[in-house]
Amino acid sequence: MRILLANPRGFCAGVNMAIQCVEEAVKIVGTPLYVYHEIVHNRHVVQQFVRQGVVFVDDIDEVPSHSTVIFSAHGVSPDVRKRAKGRGCTMIDATCPLVTKVHMEAIRYARQGYHILLVGHAGHDEVVGTVGEAPGAISIVESPADVEKLPFTDADPLVYLTQTTLSMDDANLIIDAIKKRYPHVKSPPSEDICYATTNRQHAVRDLGRDVDVVLVVGSRNSSNSVRLTEISQNTGTRAYLVDDVSELRHEWFDGVENVLVTAGASAPEHLVREIVDNLLTKHGGQVEERHVVEEDMHFELPISLRRLRERAPVR
Ligand code: SF4
Repeated sequence: MRILLANPRGFCAGVNMAIQCVEEAVKIVGTPLYVYHEIVHNRHVVQQFVRQGVVFVDDIDEVPSHSTVIFSAHGVSPDVRKRAKGRGCTMIDATCPLVTKVHMEAIRYARQGYHILLVGHAGHDEVVGTVGEAPGAISIVESPADVEKLPFTDADPLVYLTQTTLSMDDANLIIDAIKKRYPHVKSPPSEDICYATTNRQHAVRDLGRDVDVVLVVGSRNSSNSVRLTEISQNTGTRAYLVDDVSELRHEWFDGVENVLVTAGASAPEHLVREIVDNLLTKHGGQVEERHVVEEDMHFELPISLRRLRERAPVR
């Protein structure tokens, strides 16, 4: 069996930065260390930190007063920051800068009097955080059908923004519906769907056409991993989302000659390697790396962490 490895795959610059934040903070302040929401949407990454004594919370009030708390890569609303500050917590903001960019756009457009149509998934951590920047000035739009239900008129100043990890195809369908109903709608100054999401989708679309099966490594709550799986399925190729090697079903590969393996932006590379090794052991064959787009993006650690590091001796 021929196993193609998609490039780029796996960790993006935002995920690398967020994980490094937790690693550094554990060294500086020790444990228990609190993280608001899963630092990135990957079960293995979270479990590894839990084993080190990191505590993940979904309610900021669960963080004891005067503790250190890290905000996840998906960003938080100002209300969460305010409540953490009120508890005397030291805050480390591991929000991906590309999510922060969308927050800033939301704040700016709301101040200018626009109503924001946020294309994204209601309930996703990132969307909840963005909505919190301008509550009352944002409507979430999840589908073209939602566009039909919007109460605005041609006279209303409207702008659309998008969640960073959407399928480009799905987002474009919704944006087309928005533009059709509201031709005057303002577009964001630049694309909100991030480079990592875009590149991984390009790779899976390009390479997935010529294979029998696509395997996407990632957790089910990882938006960009789910989108990679859907993109493959939409092009007619069988695709499976697996968290790790234990979820492989070897009947998926009966009579299969070509498999594409990719990974969502929050999936560690060692999980990909374990899966590839398992496939080689069970089915034989060879591995080929395929490069569709080169990436060299890097994000600095947040200033709050760098200050903490300067002030405290590393344990
Ligand atoms: S997927 Fe994109 S927005 Fe999300 S952390 Fe990675 S680079 Fe940032």
